[in-house]
Amino acid sequence: MMIRVIGAGVAGLTCAYEFARAGETVEIVERAAAPGLGCSFHAGGMISPWCEEESAEPFIVEGGREALAYWTQTLPAATVQGTLVVVPPRDRPDLVRFARLTTNHERLDAARIKALEPDLAGRFDEALFYSQEAHLDPRAAMAMLVARLREFPSVSFRFNTDAETLTDAVDWTVDCRGYAAHDALKDLRGVKGEMLVLATHEIALHRPVRMLHPRHPVYVVPRGDGRFMVGATMIENEERRRITARSMLELLSAVYAIHPAFGEAEIIETGSDLRPAFSDNLPRLRLADRTLYVNGLFRHGFLLAPALARRAAAIILRGEHFPEVMDADPRERQRA
Ligand SMILES: Cc1cc2nc3c(=O)[nH]c(=O)nc-3n(C[C@H](O)[C@H](O)[C@H](O)COP(=O)(O)OP(=O)(O)OC[C@H]3O[C@@H](n4cnc5c(N)ncnc54)[C@H](O)[C@@H]3O)c2cc1C
Repeated sequence: MMIRVIGAGVAGLTCAYEFARAGETVEIVERAAAPGLGCSFHAGGMISPWCEEESAEPFIVEGGREALAYWTQTLPAATVQGTLVVVPPRDRPDLVRFARLTTNHERLDAARIKALEPDLAGRFDEALFYSQEAHLDPRAAMAMLVARLREFPSVSFRFNTDAETLTDAVDWTVDCRGYAAHDALKDLRGVKGEMLVLATHEIALHRPVRMLHPRHPVYVVPRGDGRFMVGATMIENEERRRITARSMLELLSAVYAIHPAFGEAEIIETGSDLRPAFSDNLPRLRLADRTLYVNGLFRHGFLLAPALARRAAAIILRGEHFPEVMDADPRERQRA
């Protein structure tokens, strides 16, 4: 069977890998000159299913658990160092609320925070630690996926190619165009996210640190070699390429509150893109003729892509049905 996957972001690459592993012929079509330059390029790469319990549906948590196994075993791109959640002392009620809404964490006092992250010594009295969570570098993870895909003689890539221009027939199309698919998926919206990469050797962190804040929550993900990804804003705005002075100010003040050493860091990258999202912020696998749309990964691209890709393959290859991500009616999905 010939399967065309449109879009070489995390959704497209993970889907392509499932079909390749099942022995199918796969063509990956990407309009950019290289893979992974869309929204997936800007992701933090936190694989944090239990932290996500704060605001996400059970499917996100289940999919996140699947992602932990995928990114540590199937495609070992992630490091399991846990996640540390902190608050400024005046916002302690936020930590209590976060602890109540999430599971699989332990409370740390100042001494244990220091033991885990020596450079945060004395900065926070209390924290939550999610020891089984992981993080990865999205760009490295996608490069690893591409390398794996290139090992299959039955897999081909077409870059600099807009899928709209292709007229040759294939057995199935798997549409993973992210926000660009809003021309076909009328209920898809874009949620703008802005991020920075800072460089400093004045501070070392071993794991993602999330700081809760009523207006400006922030996270810092260590990328190694003194680089830190700082994210991310969430703005209901479909203007994608500009990071505003206000967002930069908010991200920088929040990260400065985690540690003043970030004040001396060099800003080596700024970026923004649109997270593809449906109205309930849950993903969808939607069938239309011989096309399967895999979309709506919102802020959970790396967290959900493995679970969605596995289901996408089961739908096309075995005709299976997954009501939790396939039904148009949200009540049906909730029941599932
Ligand atoms: C600042 C920020 C931080 C984030 N942090 C996290 C995080 O920590 N963890 C997490 O799991 N998720 C995170 N996300 C969300 C994650 O990045 C997205 O959910 C994910 O990237 C969506 O992947 P995708 O493959 O659907 O889309 P994309 O990565 O956008 O891929 C779509 C691809 O399709 C291609 N394309 C579009 N149209 C066509 C066409 N006509 N023909 C051919 N190709 C086409 C595009 O060029 C692109 O390469 C974050 C997002 C942002 C913006």
